[in-house]
Amino acid sequence: MIKFYKIKDKKRGVNMCVFCNIIEGNIPSAKIYEDDDVLAILDISQATKGHTLVMPKKHYENILQIPEDDYIKVMSKVKKIAQVILKVFDAKGLNILNNCNEVSGQTVMHFHVHIIPRYNTDDIQIKFTDHSSQYNLEDIKNQILKQM
Ligand code: 5GP
Ligand code: ZN
Repeated sequence: MIKFYKIKDKKRGVNMCVFCNIIEGNIPSAKIYEDDDVLAILDISQATKGHTLVMPKKHYENILQIPEDDYIKVMSKVKKIAQVILKVFDAKGLNILNNCNEVSGQTVMHFHVHIIPRYNTDDIQIKFTDHSSQYNLEDIKNQILKQM
């Protein structure tokens, strides 16, 4: 059974972020990598064997908030850890995934990247439906380019 923790931060009088609590050692976790800036832990849900979360030690809500230097530190570890996980469990591939905001499925508002090893027999389904008939790529491209 998945056990979720909510710890009250007495100083601030609010419920601190679950990952900040893990980083501070208030909540146990299966750590697989740690340095001054980055922590990687096994995801409690283990969507597939070896499912890992890589996060900055500083609290940033999402990919839009994290400064580029911290983002690069996290992502460079994502690549290294993914390579190790793939080898250790003889996975056939990986999904590297980040959810940004509730609408995308983000449930913990502390930036993190999922490493989800993939196996021929796993039950993960990530499907992109074709909506190309509804959109004009040239219009979309031009809208984006105006802001780049
Ligand atoms: P999100 O949905 O925000 O992209 O992902 C949050 C992830 O954090 C979920 O996959 C969930 O299983 C994991 N998670 C939530 N609480 C805990 C916890 O206390 N410990 C660990 N290791 N993972 C957690
Ligand atoms: Zn946090």
